[in-house]
Amino acid sequence: MRHYPNFYIDGAWVAPVTPKTADVINPATEAVSGTISLGSVADVDNAVAAARRAFPAWSQTSVADRLDLLRAIQAQYSRRMQELGEAVTEEMGAPLSLGCGFHVGLGAGHLQTAIEVLETFKFEEQRGATMILREPIGVCGLITPWNWPLNQVTVKVFPALATGCTMVLKPPQLAPYSAQILAEMIADAGVPAGVFNMVQGQGSVIGAALSKHPQVDMISFTGSEPVGVQISKDAADTVKRVGLELGGKSAWVILDDADMAANVGAATAGMMVNAGQTCSAGSRLLVPNARLEEAVAAATAAANGVTVGDPHGDVGMGPVVSKAQWNIVQGYIQKGLDEGARLIAGGPGRPDGLDKGYYCKPTVFVTTNDTTIAREEIFGPVLVIIGYDDLDHAVAIANDSIFGLGGYVSGRDTDAARSVARRMRTGAVWINGGFDFHAPFGGYKRSGNGREWGAFGFDEYLEIKAISGFGE
Ligand code: NAD
Repeated sequence: MRHYPNFYIDGAWVAPVTPKTADVINPATEAVSGTISLGSVADVDNAVAAARRAFPAWSQTSVADRLDLLRAIQAQYSRRMQELGEAVTEEMGAPLSLGCGFHVGLGAGHLQTAIEVLETFKFEEQRGATMILREPIGVCGLITPWNWPLNQVTVKVFPALATGCTMVLKPPQLAPYSAQILAEMIADAGVPAGVFNMVQGQGSVIGAALSKHPQVDMISFTGSEPVGVQISKDAADTVKRVGLELGGKSAWVILDDADMAANVGAATAGMMVNAGQTCSAGSRLLVPNARLEEAVAAATAAANGVTVGDPHGDVGMGPVVSKAQWNIVQGYIQKGLDEGARLIAGGPGRPDGLDKGYYCKPTVFVTTNDTTIAREEIFGPVLVIIGYDDLDHAVAIANDSIFGLGGYVSGRDTDAARSVARRMRTGAVWINGGFDFHAPFGGYKRSGNGREWGAFGFDEYLEIKAISGFGE
């Protein structure tokens, strides 16, 4: 059992002002795996006050000083990677190979990227007689979700530290362990008091208090669209900057010259990674109508080939994060059936032999883009396949969504792939598995605003000042 009673505020591990604890449930067993404290507005006030006090000095530190801190955190991170991966598995159910692999790897990647960007980032730029300064925005409230818990904390905390901001992190209540360990690393690396603070607790209490707080200059939020809307409203009265990374319903376009078995297989397996709980998952697979049955065969084989079970075992997929999430996923599977979608793999209920734990079946439907399961973000291991007539049709389907987070294109024809990618109304497109830590990440439309990752992620935390008449 893990017990994390304290928050990290002003350079010390402190008990909540009003003691209150909550159980954390292991989604693989449905048993309590530990406890955390739930904070109150008074804890937020203390954390924000500490961050405010620390800002004048931290914002004036040299790049070299901030690089020293990030490298000291990197040393801690490298030492405790296994522990972090195990925490991710326990808190949100990712298979241990994924927890210790990509989950921890994404955090390490964002840390290394922040260091690389900081080494050369131009905080000052002279344009004629005008000096342009990029200055840290101030005290930041960082609010993160449970699905890639390390990724989302690291993609905010490290750029915020690197740019000279001070901060209060509010991790997800469902998956609080990895953030707690990361906070220990940051503390042990010698972060100055008040620069980094962490308060655990409920979004409606801690997240809302940060969003409304007059002493918080900026909120960076990753999570669901409704909460993003609420945060924007809460932040409006104090005119703070709000960066939103929200949901998605990303299209994966398979070109008609593609190796159908390999690409549909990879896209289907990719959908099931992290039990489908990935904002940028390619959850709508668009295939040429002329090759639809080939795609169906490949997707069925791939989905049926995903092993589901105890995340500590040799499995491809663990449980979804919670009972509530399991119910949501089951509701969408039933909705797909009710609306007449063609079920080609998986379906309702738990996989055979799994009576405990929030396990779902890797599920694939063939449907049209007007059904609920093609329009709404399910956030579970449910893929929809949609046929298209030609590339114009594929692009039209891809863009017929309220979301605009990501897109994927697979196939041999480079010109066609690039053309589809250019025409997608999304913040990112990945062609044939391309991946880059320095590429910006964020959404068009209701997938949010602002960009994280790499140098673009630094801009989120910087104000721009123009000093005219500065002189040559
Ligand atoms: P959520 O919106 O319920 O919660 C996210 C965070 O916000 C949690 O820490 C939660 O406690 C907090 N919160 C809840 N209510 C709040 C309020 N009123 N004010 C302030 N904070 C509040 O989301 P979730 O269920 O944890 O995560 C799943 C969602 O996140 C999905 O929609 C997914 O697509 C999205 N997501 C987006 C990205 C991206 O980068 N675009 C990445 C991962 C997840």
